[in-house]
Amino acid sequence: SSGSAGTSGTRFDLERETELRFEVEAGERVQLELLSGLAEVFGSELNRNKKYTFGPGSKIAVFTWQGCSVSLSGKTEVAYISKDTPMLLYLNTHAALEQMRRQAGKDNERGPRVMVVGPTDVGKTTVCRVLLNYAVRLGRRPTLVELDVGQSSVSVPGTMSALCIERPADVEEGFSVQAPLVFHFGSTTPGTNIKLYNKLTSNLAEVFSQRCEVNRRASVGGCIINTCGWVKGSGYQALVHCASAFQVDVVIVLDQERLYNELKRDLPHFVRVVLLPKSGGVVERSKDCRRESRDEKVREYFYGFRGTSFYPHAFDVRFSDVRIYKIGAPSIPDSCLPLGMSQDDTQLKLVPVSPGRDLTHHVLSVSSVDDDAEVGAGQSRGILESPVCGFIVVTAVDTQAQVMTVLSPAPRPLPRHTLLIMDIRFIDLK
Ligand code: ATP
Ligand code: MN
Repeated sequence: SSGSAGTSGTRFDLERETELRFEVEAGERVQLELLSGLAEVFGSELNRNKKYTFGPGSKIAVFTWQGCSVSLSGKTEVAYISKDTPMLLYLNTHAALEQMRRQAGKDNERGPRVMVVGPTDVGKTTVCRVLLNYAVRLGRRPTLVELDVGQSSVSVPGTMSALCIERPADVEEGFSVQAPLVFHFGSTTPGTNIKLYNKLTSNLAEVFSQRCEVNRRASVGGCIINTCGWVKGSGYQALVHCASAFQVDVVIVLDQERLYNELKRDLPHFVRVVLLPKSGGVVERSKDCRRESRDEKVREYFYGFRGTSFYPHAFDVRFSDVRIYKIGAPSIPDSCLPLGMSQDDTQLKLVPVSPGRDLTHHVLSVSSVDDDAEVGAGQSRGILESPVCGFIVVTAVDTQAQVMTVLSPAPRPLPRHTLLIMDIRFIDLK
């Protein structure tokens, strides 16, 4: 059913309910074109006779409900058609969620709040994208809640965010990220500071619920929560916490029966826990691959994405004009804690940082907290509740002159003066 070379590439004829999977080789680009029929990429419909370009390392599935012909040109690592996909199960799940939205609309209730969980590399992010696309294609306004601090689809790594979805994801670039609500976590694994992770999950839940109270469409649209692949120990507890903070109605467990059983046991009985298979097309990603895509995310933040180039600014910031903090003091044994202080307090504590050379290359979040907000006694009140208004990277530190040079998406001055340090480093090679 495939292989006949067209004028501009290899032609693939797909039967209904099958998908063409391909991966783009390192350093290469691949162009995809829909020649006839209907097809979609992770729930976003393809336009006919339009060339879609995918960059190095992209792992894509072109799925068709009705049958189609497509052509691929450029170097693919693999390209094959599979008849064995769970898309029908995902569509049925979407239909059930849509039924809940319809009912919510009628009864003046809120729509489904869905948490997608599973170990690493089972297609969690992809399932979220498919469900959001199907919902928004029906005119719904679901919210994507991104809790994966390692591979955020909304903002730079080390953040937790919420994004109202108003149109399907762009086939090449994903969801358009205008005005996301972003919180600073600071590292790429929840385990670095699980208290902070849970606290920020609660913050997001609260902001989302407030929005639902004033925005009927957001309320009926509900949310799809993407989570990390860490599903054991504190990672598991974080999932349970999230389910309760967001008062989720549905949990989709991908590919792990044990996790499914645990959640069924530990969540309230009215939460519907559903086990779904992972797609055979989901590709495992190595540590290096993950690191690269994190780096790419930061680069995109400053320099834009292919079609749209940004031109970041470099300027000096005087130490005396900013206050820099790290969230969380290094944990100390319980027995050494001052009387009346708990481990929670240390993990949520705001630790002032005096800039030194080791700050070089670090990504800093610019907090939206009021510049003259009191930061009393090392307490982070106000700052933890404040979203981030942007990010900068420290490119050089001059301790003699007491200034640092930063890379910023906007020209000087910084919009706010409270900066939070990330563990994440970015080396600007441009
Ligand atoms: P992580 O544990 O890193 O969060 P995940 O569970 O969210 O991973 P995804 O990011 O959704 O998994 O999928 C992993 C990779 O597989 C992605 O690059 C995605 O584009 C690709 N992928 C997903 N589904 C398919 C498919 N059916 N065919 C081909 N590639 C796919
Ligand atoms: Mn993911």
